[in-house]
Amino acid sequence: MSFRSARDAVRADKYMIDVERIRKDFPILGREVYGKPLVYLDNAATTQKPQCVIDAISEAYCNENANVHRGIHFLSQQVTDMMEAAREKVRQFIGAGNTEEIIFTRGTTESINLLASSFAQAFLKEGDEVVISGMEHHSNIVPWQIQAQRYGFKLKVIPVTDSGELDLDTYRTLLTPRTKLVSITHVSNVLGTVNPVQDIISEAHPHGIPVAVDGAQSVPHIKMNVQQLGADFYAFSGHKIYGPTGIGVLYGRKELLDRMPPYQGGGEMIKRVTMEKTTYNELPYKFEAGTPDYIGSIALASALDYVDGIGMADIARYESELCNYAIERLSAIPDMRIIGNAPERSAVISFLVGNIHPSDMGTLLDRLGIAVRTGHHCAEPLMDRYGIPGTVRASFSFYNTKAEIDALVAGIERVKAMF
Ligand code: PLP
Repeated sequence: MSFRSARDAVRADKYMIDVERIRKDFPILGREVYGKPLVYLDNAATTQKPQCVIDAISEAYCNENANVHRGIHFLSQQVTDMMEAAREKVRQFIGAGNTEEIIFTRGTTESINLLASSFAQAFLKEGDEVVISGMEHHSNIVPWQIQAQRYGFKLKVIPVTDSGELDLDTYRTLLTPRTKLVSITHVSNVLGTVNPVQDIISEAHPHGIPVAVDGAQSVPHIKMNVQQLGADFYAFSGHKIYGPTGIGVLYGRKELLDRMPPYQGGGEMIKRVTMEKTTYNELPYKFEAGTPDYIGSIALASALDYVDGIGMADIARYESELCNYAIERLSAIPDMRIIGNAPERSAVISFLVGNIHPSDMGTLLDRLGIAVRTGHHCAEPLMDRYGIPGTVRASFSFYNTKAEIDALVAGIERVKAMF
């Protein structure tokens, strides 16, 4: 079913989403593992792909493939137009003002590395400070540590409360004349907490401090408008929003991006090269050295069309219902410990059951066909904060059902009985 027919699937029923029809768009959801129907609850790691995205990749390779921005021949121009149309789709989807502000990257990790490297070179020096939080994914910690070693600035960390929220009182005290940037995750990939990014931004901006938002876990679940939010930078990965792997986005305000140096050198990011000196291309190409994943950006646009076809408001409503149901059912299991219970949360639940090691739980659930994530989820400082080695994490999409949550609960009960 194309994204247009996905729109037809939206019904005026309780959730406004016809899950059974939507599931048919995702070929992989029909498969079995170990002879059991797949229950895919690892959507925070990556989402499955609808047929329209798979077709977009295949059709682009079958019909339009040529290198972008380089050739004057027909195919090159056609595929360049398609890639630029994809950029425009991303712009609309996240509510950016201008396509110059949309940089295609390999994913959130590369977006934040680009940002950290280029922002640090332009704006950071010894004595400066960058504020992050205790619930960041490693990809919003390590790139800053690497640059901090190079330029001598310090990282300040907003603590996380027992309930899994950011301690905003401490945050306010961390903002000083030395603070040059706040870089924060919108949604925790472990706790599911939706951070009050708008409040965080409105504390920082009056001091002239820009705010970068890691949107990896928010863009698939929450309607995004970077301008309304006031984010100066916003990063996300295509594969977490039903698009292909290897493509992602860094949004940045033009005024800041214009003052930042290129991240990588090579083809396409230049205006003129001599052996003595190079002048750089305009935005966004200044930050897109080499042949980009143009097929990936075209397929990402198809994924965003698909999501728009269902409607972000309905997705949010349905997923919130699903998440509440999961919390209710999981909480009823004796010895269940859900990590983090922030009132504002997204479709991620981390938990531990009695003394069962998360990897034992994950391995045994897997044998029942239930795919969950186990481990530290690339958030080791957060694990240290709670004094735990890791968690089991179930994360949901609009194609999941209450029956799948029931299967998870039954699976946990079965594993418990074995210990
Ligand atoms: N930030 C958050 C909050 C994440 O959950 C993830 C991935 O799980 C990332 C960043 C990194 O994303 P990617 O591996 O797609 O670059």
